[in-house]
Amino acid sequence: MYELKNYSETAVRNMLQDYIKHTGIPCTCDLCQADITALVLNRLPAKYAVSLRGQILTHWESQSVIDQTRILSEIVRATQLVAAYPSHPKEETN
Ligand SMILES: [Zn+2]
Repeated sequence: MYELKNYSETAVRNMLQDYIKHTGIPCTCDLCQADITALVLNRLPAKYAVSLRGQILTHWESQSVIDQTRILSEIVRATQLVAAYPSHPKEETN
């Protein structure tokens, strides 16, 4: 089964995990992490490739450098937004 894989999503997920590990975010629950990932991806160009069972088959976009500085600044922005307006009541995060 051929699937479409978005490199930007993989990059954002990896960088968010690094950011949580090294800097930390106010709430690390699955919902807040998903909210941050969605906010960041909505502001980045998608980079799709064709994959088969997780293995990338097309490589023409994989050489293009994903702008890590841009992703990081979007992660910082999204983290602040989600911290200010979490999708769940703030009390539950304590
Ligand atoms: Zn949360």
